Amino acid sequence: MATCPRCKGHLTDGHRCPRRRGLIALEIAACAIGGGFLALLLLAAFDPHGQVTDMDAVSFLAGALVAVGINRALRA
Ligand SMILES: [Zn+2]
Repeated sequence: MATCPRCKGHLTDGHRCPRRRGLIALEIAACAIGGGFLALLLLAAFDPHGQVTDMDAVSFLAGALVAVGINRALRA
């Protein structure tokens, strides 16, 4: 079996080099931040008068987790 010159993995037909760990971590972080802000925007959209208090951090976290989860699922 031939090996990939870049990642030393088995060079199968559908081979794609795994990306470097730092880049993956960076992508996950960017995804989490994006998802968190998206969740905040959604919260603001559904709660224009700020009636739901103390939900900012929770929704940010939930959005971040969902975004990372989706990102991981798409990469798997
Ligand atoms: Zn490779």
